[in-house]
Amino acid sequence: MNSIIFLESKLVEKIWGGTRLKEYFGYEIPNENIGEYWAVSAHPNAESVIKYGEFKGKKLSWLWDNHREIFGNIEGKEFPLLTKIIDASDDLSVQVHPNDEYAKKHENGSLGKTECWYIIDCEKDSELVLGHNAESKEEMKQMIDEGKWDKLLRKVKINPGDFFYIPAGTVHAIGSGTMILETQQTSDITYRVYDYNRLQNGKKRELHIEKSIDVATIPYKDIKLEKYKKNVNGNIIEKLVETNYFTICKLYITSSLDINQDKSFIIMSVLAGKGSIDGIDIKKGQHFIIPALYGKFKLEGNMEIVYSYI
Ligand code: ZN
Repeated sequence: MNSIIFLESKLVEKIWGGTRLKEYFGYEIPNENIGEYWAVSAHPNAESVIKYGEFKGKKLSWLWDNHREIFGNIEGKEFPLLTKIIDASDDLSVQVHPNDEYAKKHENGSLGKTECWYIIDCEKDSELVLGHNAESKEEMKQMIDEGKWDKLLRKVKINPGDFFYIPAGTVHAIGSGTMILETQQTSDITYRVYDYNRLQNGKKRELHIEKSIDVATIPYKDIKLEKYKKNVNGNIIEKLVETNYFTICKLYITSSLDINQDKSFIIMSVLAGKGSIDGIDIKKGQHFIIPALYGKFKLEGNMEIVYSYI
């Protein structure tokens, strides 16, 4: 298989979800509490299925297990990345994820979770939680015990187009009115620190205070990202972050751009506008994978695309 892989992806219901995934991207939603669209996922909790071609109907994990050449024959038990769109119509719980080492030991060999967020859209004066103000584990425990959330949590103002890198160990939360593209390691291990005392079916959701304090980076370290921008024939290519787990770039296509696929695979998400890839029409809300040996490809139109590779 040497064609672009389009996927059929799943929506996930959340207590903080809403309807904007339909309004903004046109996804068919089954109810009014949809919080996530797992656009490119080989995770069993909501897995993507191949949409066209000889492997139509197969799961992405099947393709990873049986046709590793499509992914440049890279090693690994699981497909390494998970790309989601998250629509928060309410605040998400404050949480922290373990790193690979901790997750392997305490979560049945699972991967840890380093993630990053590209802000697609948000209301005016939206905020998110990124980091905390505790100087030691003892201080964090005390502030949690005493419910001093305003003092503990570090809030950041956000705007559409902002990008945040959230390595494992970062205390974080998405605020209401925010739509983001999240790229993360394939893992669903989350330790919940605070859930605003909300009820789900009459009960509070479980918190994981001890594990959270165990894995949190204390004190918090602010990470300055060095962005790198290049203009090719009026199209802009911007590298947002490069880490051991993934590299994320943003493309602003205004005419036509040739790219040489020299990665093991590339995941692309069209976040605005429309155009084509090698003559195939693509538009806002579509996500696809470009396989290892695909070679050169041409993007044309007026589009904003975020893409990732490892
Ligand atoms: Zn998270």
